[in-house]
Amino acid sequence: MRIARVALDIPARGLSSAFDYDVPPHLDAEVEVGVAVVVEFARRTAVGHVVACVDTSDVPSRKPLLAVVSPPRFDAVSAGIAARIAHEYVAPLADAVRLFLPPGTVPRAVPRGDGWTLAPVPVAPVEERVVALTPQGDYVPAPNATRQRAVLDALALGPVTAAELTAALGSVSSVLSRLEASGAITVTTRRRFRDPGAPTRPAPRHDVLSAGQRDALDAIERAEPGSCVLLDGVTGSGKTEVYLRAIERVCAAGRRALVLVPEISLTPQTVGRFRARFGDDVAVVHSRLSAGERLDQWDRIAAGQARVVVGARSALFAPVADLGLIVIDEEHETSYKQSSAPRYHAREVARWIAAERGAVLVLGSATPCLETREEVVRGTITRVELPERVGGGTPPAIEVVDLGREFIDGNRSMFSRRLAAELIAVAERGEKAVLLLNRRGFASFLLCRECGHVPGCARCSSSLTLHEAGPRLMCHHCGARSGVPAECPECSSPYLRKFGAGTQRVVNELETLVPGLRVVRMDADTTSMKGGHELRLAEFEALESGVLVGTQMVAKGLDYPEVTLVGVVSADTTIHLPDFRSGERTYQMLEQVAGRAGRGERPGVVVIQTYWPEHPALVAVSTHDPGRFYEAERTERRALGFPPYGRLANVLVTAETTEAARAQAARVAEELAALAPGGWEILGPVPAPLARIKGRHRWHVLVKAPRDADLAGALHRALGAVRSVAGVSVAPDIDPLDLV
Ligand code: ADP
Ligand code: ZN
Ligand code: ZN
Repeated sequence: MRIARVALDIPARGLSSAFDYDVPPHLDAEVEVGVAVVVEFARRTAVGHVVACVDTSDVPSRKPLLAVVSPPRFDAVSAGIAARIAHEYVAPLADAVRLFLPPGTVPRAVPRGDGWTLAPVPVAPVEERVVALTPQGDYVPAPNATRQRAVLDALALGPVTAAELTAALGSVSSVLSRLEASGAITVTTRRRFRDPGAPTRPAPRHDVLSAGQRDALDAIERAEPGSCVLLDGVTGSGKTEVYLRAIERVCAAGRRALVLVPEISLTPQTVGRFRARFGDDVAVVHSRLSAGERLDQWDRIAAGQARVVVGARSALFAPVADLGLIVIDEEHETSYKQSSAPRYHAREVARWIAAERGAVLVLGSATPCLETREEVVRGTITRVELPERVGGGTPPAIEVVDLGREFIDGNRSMFSRRLAAELIAVAERGEKAVLLLNRRGFASFLLCRECGHVPGCARCSSSLTLHEAGPRLMCHHCGARSGVPAECPECSSPYLRKFGAGTQRVVNELETLVPGLRVVRMDADTTSMKGGHELRLAEFEALESGVLVGTQMVAKGLDYPEVTLVGVVSADTTIHLPDFRSGERTYQMLEQVAGRAGRGERPGVVVIQTYWPEHPALVAVSTHDPGRFYEAERTERRALGFPPYGRLANVLVTAETTEAARAQAARVAEELAALAPGGWEILGPVPAPLARIKGRHRWHVLVKAPRDADLAGALHRALGAVRSVAGVSVAPDIDPLDLV
């Protein structure tokens, strides 16, 4: 008798491994990897997914499977990847398996007859009727049957849907029945795939490639199956054209391609270029599609109807057969890391998938992250550089303005004299500007308005976060805390203030500076409804002249040639994030912003305001030379044992009361400390930088381990040993990108 390994899909249980069930003879023909089954578990029925079929088991008394309730929905390779995700990211197995299931999948079975069926999905496929002439149709309508004639004429060029006929000719149902009865036409029913309707953008195919583009294509062509190539190229250097060419080649060889783009840049622009090149061969998968559209795209991919899949993070799990190429555009983007269980990184999982399926993985970015750069140094990723914009185009002039100097000179406004002058000039010339207010994470910190000093932790190279309760300063890596100084420890100025301004304040100051200026505000508040993001951008696009004020979401996917000024209101919010990656994030953000300015004929200006003009990230951007910055970054991270030279895990514990969260976090820390080998550090528990979200108190424990450590193994054991407490959630995050 065969034995099925089943990932039980019981949301409340969060089981980390599969359970063995016997396959009864009457189900033997139907059971294979990927089917959904109904089983008995803890005296109830539950739905599970078969992840393996085996012949032997260590489990002595096994129950039989009760029913098979779906066709296979993933293969053994996907099952293996799911198991790896669950293990490496310390997540429930069913959560990992679910990544591979069609969108809208429900893990609930309902009785049907004397058996079972899956509860219906919230969205259902839709069908349509297709009308076609019969091949040997020699039917001649009566001379006065004008409507029959009209239908037959409409079909002369090929099959047409009944809906299209109705749209063109009015109601035709009785005409169709008569023609069908007389054998002139056939009417068949087929699945209609709802079209997400991304318009195509003209994407001319450039016959002459730049030297960098040719090198990149060659490198991809030569790459071994399962290997990885990095395209390190500035914005506008032609990376997308390289992806398109590489996909053409893969398709010509009869294989398929998957392209991941960050969610935020899934603007019609990006998708449109792929649609223009590959037409209906492109399937699009992202969270802004309706549930029905998403299901249809998924099924089209499963049916092999799309040779190219373009989508956000989750598209990685689409059922693409014969996968030959995976592209991850803007590989440094943090949206590739999922923020709920399983907290996987798409770049990491893409490498496993590429290796298993024999595909080549291509990463592209103007600002590759240090993890990827380090792999280039180690020789596990091949790097190709595209150093120049294809169409030439002058890189923008980058001005760094010292806000401390402004303050000392008596300017109390949030705009430096330089930025104010540029804004007024833009208004006078009738041009457009973008003002970026960077408020990632919202953690607040203290900053001296005279010298720009920000109190930091000597041990962790991270800013101290200001907690209103107390008030006090705290380090969110190691928990070190101190009181709030009355004056600046560096320069003794009394102007030590809490830092962080909202978009509304910027808008108000702008209106005072240039009365009558058209301003579009784009932040979480003004874009929360569906399509809000596109709406604000369209509003700005429609303006003759004006300013777009927004949080960092405006920095991405922004491509307006008529923008001649980009102002960064304060670079310091990112510099002082309570996170060891804050320097790198600052560099990436500013470099991306700078890449957006001056894409049109008129050269652009970028004005960056900061209290820390000599920060290496700012110097790297203004001198167009990231080399030295990354050298310093490497040295520091190596010294402190941070990624990519060491590994981290962050265990976030949340509860209704701070005491409950702290107590459980303390238990986690204790278990971890008990089994951590030498060389590991268990830091905390400490309150998270955002100590309370939506009424829940948040504490965390940070684990620092050597690069080759079995971090996942230790966390599985430690968390397995901690008794769960009702109402208290424990969420491990392996290789976290965000410690807030
Ligand atoms: P990236 O993805 O690196 O930002 P793109 O592929 O979008 O760069 O290219 C930038 C612009 O240059 C696009 O308008 C594109 O059509 C154009 N382009 C790309 N490759 C070539 C080429 N070989 N010759 C001429 N124009 C090109
Ligand atoms: Zn000071
Ligand atoms: Zn510290």
